[in-house]
Amino acid sequence: MSNSERTTEAKATSEKLVELAKRRGYFFQSSGAYGGVGGFYTFGPQGAALKSNVEDTWRDRFALAEGNMEIDAPTIMPEPVFEASGHLDGFDDMLIECPECGTSSRADHLVEDNTEYEDAESLPIPEVESVIAEYELVCPECGAGLADVAVENFNLMFDTNIGPGDAQPGYLRPETAQGIFVEFPRLKEYARNQLPFGVTQIGRAYRNEISPRRSIIRTREFTQAELEHFIDPDEDEPDLESVEDVTVTLYPAYEQQAEDGTPIKTTIGEAVADGIIANEWVAYFLGISKPWYDAIGVDMDRFRFRQHLAGERAHYAADCWDAEGEIDGNWIELAGFAYRGDYDLSKHADHSGDRFTVFKQYDEPKTVERATVDPDMSYLGPEFGGDAQRVVSELERLAERDRSLFTGETIELAIDDETHEIPVDKTGFAVEEQTEAGEHVTPHVVEPSFGVDRLVYTVLHHAYSEDEVDGEERTYLQLDPEVAPTVVGVFPLQTDDALEAEATAIASELRAAGLSVTYDDSGNIGRRYRRQDEVGTPFCVTVDYETIEADERTVTVRERDSTEQKRLPIDELPETLSALRAGAVTFAEL
Ligand code: ATP
Repeated sequence: MSNSERTTEAKATSEKLVELAKRRGYFFQSSGAYGGVGGFYTFGPQGAALKSNVEDTWRDRFALAEGNMEIDAPTIMPEPVFEASGHLDGFDDMLIECPECGTSSRADHLVEDNTEYEDAESLPIPEVESVIAEYELVCPECGAGLADVAVENFNLMFDTNIGPGDAQPGYLRPETAQGIFVEFPRLKEYARNQLPFGVTQIGRAYRNEISPRRSIIRTREFTQAELEHFIDPDEDEPDLESVEDVTVTLYPAYEQQAEDGTPIKTTIGEAVADGIIANEWVAYFLGISKPWYDAIGVDMDRFRFRQHLAGERAHYAADCWDAEGEIDGNWIELAGFAYRGDYDLSKHADHSGDRFTVFKQYDEPKTVERATVDPDMSYLGPEFGGDAQRVVSELERLAERDRSLFTGETIELAIDDETHEIPVDKTGFAVEEQTEAGEHVTPHVVEPSFGVDRLVYTVLHHAYSEDEVDGEERTYLQLDPEVAPTVVGVFPLQTDDALEAEATAIASELRAAGLSVTYDDSGNIGRRYRRQDEVGTPFCVTVDYETIEADERTVTVRERDSTEQKRLPIDELPETLSALRAGAVTFAEL
């Protein structure tokens, strides 16, 4: 079955969900008054609350519980950052434009949706062009043939100018990670120069996607939650023992390539022992992520970790896995886990001239041979003006890295893409014996990178349920109480001053206890329950005449999923509902 057949077959849930999301205030396309704009979505009151609850649980797990630091960096950064990171040259998707109607499509998606190819992104452009010709693929909008149309690379970054004029180009960050990497020289100070340490950031990222689709799954502005974990590759090891028994569904590269390959169920410990997950740090983060996804309501029967195929992986990344959730028969990427080596920090060191290293103290001082430079500033000053200091840094770096470069008459170095030749006798190059207390090491980086919007969509999709109650069809969202935007609905049974006064007082008390409460007195009680079911509110409290007349002040508490009702004393409501929200007790146990 091709991807498009699968999509058609199970379209119903997504369509119904998107409709519910709009009706109940989860999410909707932005700027509707002006016709809407592709790839931009607004989270409504329910969606914003759900998203922020998901972010809070992420922060608890990946920042607080791990002892990591969280930062909040700007979303616009200057061009040199993206020259260094490689985004300016290589952050491209494959674009194909319909010659008839001008619709832009992602060529790899066109191939994946209409052929048996599952990972067209990793194919070279000429191969994608031949597949399009071979399968006689057509424009999804007007049906015109695309067989002879060229596929081009399209850079996904949004550009802008910083300040008036165009002297300082800037870009909206395509990932939050660069905001962490560029601040490493300062962040390491906050970590007291001790590895390992982790820095997290939850924030917006921008990608000018060629064809945004599937509502908030692929947008042009979205939220990422990223962790950059900096380690000493020679010394630091993850606490694998703490996750070795976590069971996971893995879809390793060799299974994807085998004819009848299937995902396998195993534990993190076994997957590492069997060499399926090559990198222990990546294994550790998969191990802490799975229970977190489970806890916030991703259906574990529709969740797996898929290893990148060799062609998908960046050349510097040793091992990469994606967390994937199943939506309408398709697997979508929820997060990426990569061991990135020293790529990012080395690139920023090379381009900025700053120190992206940590000083590692030896147990005993060592005597070593060290290549040094002591450049002749009376030569460099007039020759390079304001760039002289950058030349010095570059010479220092080259001397450290490859002393053989200093054996000829001149040495070549590049500053801002311009190559300069400097006479070696002006560099003051020397090799000396030095006693050293330690060395500067460039940390390696392990990066778990989560997409928040896709996760919110998956949580909603997996929570979407239909059943029949009292002969009537019901739609409800089985959201986990910990992330549900509203925890309790409070209703007076009917229009009556006394009932309304009591219900309002209960709502205030529950709000004071830190619960998110909605008060609703419109329509019959059945309709009010259905409304909260659709929003995914796990509990509803109804104030009736027994509440205000009987000596024992009780209310009816109804659970969303079972629709079961119990009478509970008003006094105990804040504590009981808080415990239900935290999962400390179940409704059945009350
Ligand atoms: P894709 O292949 O789907 O375009 P990616 O591999 O480029 O995604 P990463 O760069 O690894 O994505 O970004 C990390 C996470 O950010 C992804 O796992 C995803 O959850 C989220 N993400 C990436 N692009 C988008 C987008 N356009 N809209 C919503 N979320 C996104």
